[in-house]
Amino acid sequence: MTVKRIAIVGAGIMGRMLAWQLLNYAKSAVAITLYDKDPMNVGGAAAYTAAGMLSPYSELESAEHSVFHMGLASLTRWPAVTESLSKQRNTPVDLFSNGTVVVAHQQDQADFQRFHQQVTTKLPDSYRDQMGQHMQLLNQAALSQLVPQLATRFNHGLHLPNEAWLDSAQVMLAFNEYLLNGDVKWQENCAVSHIEHCIQAEQRLGAAVCLASGKQMFDHVIDCRGLGAKRDVQGLRGVRGEVITLHAPQVELKHAVRLIHPRYKLYIAPRRDHHFVIGASQIESEDNGPLSVRSALELLSAAYSIDAGFGEAQIVKLATNCRPAFSDNLPKIICDQQIMRINGLFRHGYLLAPIIAEQACERLFNTDYKSPFSNLIQEVRC
Ligand SMILES: Cc1cc2nc3c(=O)[nH]c(=O)nc-3n(C[C@H](O)[C@H](O)[C@H](O)COP(=O)(O)OP(=O)(O)OC[C@H]3O[C@@H](n4cnc5c(N)ncnc54)[C@H](O)[C@@H]3O)c2cc1C
Repeated sequence: MTVKRIAIVGAGIMGRMLAWQLLNYAKSAVAITLYDKDPMNVGGAAAYTAAGMLSPYSELESAEHSVFHMGLASLTRWPAVTESLSKQRNTPVDLFSNGTVVVAHQQDQADFQRFHQQVTTKLPDSYRDQMGQHMQLLNQAALSQLVPQLATRFNHGLHLPNEAWLDSAQVMLAFNEYLLNGDVKWQENCAVSHIEHCIQAEQRLGAAVCLASGKQMFDHVIDCRGLGAKRDVQGLRGVRGEVITLHAPQVELKHAVRLIHPRYKLYIAPRRDHHFVIGASQIESEDNGPLSVRSALELLSAAYSIDAGFGEAQIVKLATNCRPAFSDNLPKIICDQQIMRINGLFRHGYLLAPIIAEQACERLFNTDYKSPFSNLIQEVRC
């Protein structure tokens, strides 16, 4: 059997997930090298900043239908991913599956109604026939039964039972062990200046990873550098986001909570041991600088307005980063002979990575592959 020599450039969530998928799809048929400019355990990847929300229903408010369909498909893939990562390290990788509860303060009721209507209207017809399985409006009694802590401050809510979330930093680290055990050659602290086409021995088409120390040739190179690929990927932009991690021993939330707010898409994603990620701002800027006072005030007041226990919380971490996005905020797999570029995951890197990795593998092993998700795969014709 011929073994494909594959380089993945960028070990964010997309690069790591793709390496995982390749090992599961065709382990004996691939030799994988993974390059990243940062060390293996830390770095500037947006994936480290992400809250890890897997929320295709909530995202329907502003996202395209394709994000919903790909997101639902990914949700069915994540349990196998976290299970395999957990087995490898003998400690569980958390996949929280309690769903989301959406609430709004009295003054934001009109926005709550609009959110509910948008999501309901955008749900495919077949889902609307069994609406109760996908979303339930909660009156105060139902809210009080499901999340008693919320019922003291809100008199109704919306339950999205199928949504989930992950601890993003934990997932990133768990991939390391899995990939190293799968014989992935990890080139850390290795910045790639660009990727180019090349001709290998026996006139075979290939692609080269260009480093300060020279070029390395492969059968295929897959560019997963996120915003780091901006110079080489037309139309890519960064969208700033800010999150705060709190340790709040007095808060008992077990559901993800989304607070409808006129300016922000605010959510609280619980972690283990009373840790909570409060996110996230969305600002059209590529400024990666520290969290602004305004965003900190908004995020912290939102948390406090949901549960007074956050008043006693400790601030564990403030983080900012930029989401890589195209103008339509949809991801793309761009295929140019032996170079594939996967980018534009925007707010949905965790939500979409499993299904995008699957589509990329299908395309790598079958050059005529057409993804069921229209426009995801784009061919560059020479
Ligand atoms: C505040 C915030 C909250 C978010 N919350 C969520 C969420 O709840 N759910 C969700 O699904 N998504 C969320 N996201 C989005 C998610 O983080 C991104 O969509 C995702 O990280 C993009 O993945 P990526 O692998 O393409 O890029 P990245 O994660 O940015 O990874 C790119 C990698 O490429 C490497 N790299 C860059 N340049 C080079 C180079 N020249 N040479 C070698 N390596 C290089 C970087 O070091 C990095 O490791 C959030 C993002 C932000 C900023």
